Amino acid sequence: MPSDCVFCKIANKEMESEIVYEDSDVVAFKDISPAAPVHLLVVPRKHISTHQEVLEEDAYLLGKIHMVINELARAFQIEEDGYRVIVNCGKHSGQVVYHLHFHLLGGKPLTDSLAEGRGA
Ligand code: AMP
Ligand code: ZN
Repeated sequence: MPSDCVFCKIANKEMESEIVYEDSDVVAFKDISPAAPVHLLVVPRKHISTHQEVLEEDAYLLGKIHMVINELARAFQIEEDGYRVIVNCGKHSGQVVYHLHFHLLGGKPLTDSLAEGRGA
């Protein structure tokens, strides 16, 4: 793990954050700059830089992350109205933190388009 990784530090409790879920594989915490009433980040404890770095051996971990997302959506009562799950990967996506993370957004209609400049 790179020593300067913010999400590794949060997962290891070396940096403050509002953790809402954790187990031996996965940690979830509130986004510091929320874009919706519910904006959580769900991350593997394992340092994986980007979505492109996911390996076959991570298949269980990735499945578990989605189960945690479902559980959190219920815990934050956004499962009925719906929500969005986003993974940014690399420069064009605007990825800022290079530790794989799943944004869980909800609590209001998410009317913004999926990608600016839609229309290839
Ligand atoms: P991305 O553009 O997908 O890399 O998104 C990174 C997200 O991490 C942004 O929504 C930031 O607001 C969020 N973020 C950055 N630092 C922290 C932090 N220390 N605690 C919680 N969220 C953070
Ligand atoms: Zn990391």
